[in-house]
Amino acid sequence: MKPTICWCYITLHCFLLCSSPSLSITMTSTTHWTIKSAWSKAGVGTNIVLELKCAPDNAKTKTKKRPACVAFDMGATPCFDDAILAKYVFLSHGHIDHVGALFSHARAHAVSCGGEAPTYFVPAQLLPQIEQCRNAMSMIDSFTTTTSGDENKTTGRENLLKMTLVPVNPGDEFLLKGITYGSKTNFFVRAFEVDHAGHTALGYTIGSRTKTAGLKREYQNLDGDAIRELVQSGVRVKAGTVEKIEVAYSGDTCRHGLMKDCLHSPESMNEKLSKSATFLQQAFQAELLICELTFLDSAEDETQRQRSVERGHLHINDLEVIFASHGRLNSNNENETKSILFYHLSGRYGPASRALDYIAAGLPSQIRNSCQVSIKSLLSEKEKAAGHGIQQLLQPNGCVSVEDYLRWKKGKNNAKA
Ligand SMILES: [Zn+2]
Ligand SMILES: [Zn+2]
Repeated sequence: MKPTICWCYITLHCFLLCSSPSLSITMTSTTHWTIKSAWSKAGVGTNIVLELKCAPDNAKTKTKKRPACVAFDMGATPCFDDAILAKYVFLSHGHIDHVGALFSHARAHAVSCGGEAPTYFVPAQLLPQIEQCRNAMSMIDSFTTTTSGDENKTTGRENLLKMTLVPVNPGDEFLLKGITYGSKTNFFVRAFEVDHAGHTALGYTIGSRTKTAGLKREYQNLDGDAIRELVQSGVRVKAGTVEKIEVAYSGDTCRHGLMKDCLHSPESMNEKLSKSATFLQQAFQAELLICELTFLDSAEDETQRQRSVERGHLHINDLEVIFASHGRLNSNNENETKSILFYHLSGRYGPASRALDYIAAGLPSQIRNSCQVSIKSLLSEKEKAAGHGIQQLLQPNGCVSVEDYLRWKKGKNNAKA
């Protein structure tokens, strides 16, 4: 996986930023994040854990800090252990396969991180329900029986599960305070609206801002006199801060929710929705796009495609029109530096090799070589066996590169011939 992410953190606060979103995103081929663990199966569980790589200046210090972690969604999955250290969790929506391990996570994180309360970004409309569940879980957790056994009671709100809940609306932006890469880069998260068949649902992007002392790219080739002239005329020539969208997460959504300029007409958008639309566009320019994909068979008839819309999920035949609407199918070098991770596969397309065959056949050719798949959840018992080809392709984070799979399959077929 090309993108890698690192963090060190000091305090835990999030601030809603008032600044307007920047449309000028400077892209480079590197990010600060890596996928530590990705386990996902539609209707069963989804949990994607990112880890920040260690900055060179941090690596020199003697005291080793744990790498910072964040997670998208908190379903009950086999990668829960990797998710425990996530200080920030971004919840896309309230379906149980995406939030089922939320309260276990709060407890496990506090136990493992010196009592620290993790921060959960939750769709604002779901906040009251999540607070109710938290209260109920806390009461169950603190329920006691007296020594006589005839009287039950709870021990009160002092045992409330430690969680910082942040309500999020489309178009919101938050600084991820306490997470930095070296001394010059910090991170923020932005939320955008998607369409999950009417269920309140969000996608997220994580971006970085890096302080730089140099000139803006467009002025770097000018001589001193030209620069002086610009400065005297009031032009800001110093780069100051470079902003980059590093990771995007679609959450559960149908095609409509990811198409550029599709959810609202320009006239009907308020300021927040217009920011949300901008954030969605930025998601498709991210170095790493983590994109849901539930229906995999490109030969399926219109009825199946209609079913994907009704259930609020993506069908593999939707990808071409979605990626084209964001200019991602143009032939340029940009795609070579960017990665896409598909997750949320339906178990009906298993086992893993069968699902990968569908995906390899149905992906738009322009993006096929930059795609990975969160596939571990679909491995059959036979495929799990040591020595099976898929095991050699499987990365420690549970993903397989489509390009690697096709190369392996070609080799296997050549050997048979
Ligand atoms: Zn789901
Ligand atoms: Zn869902």
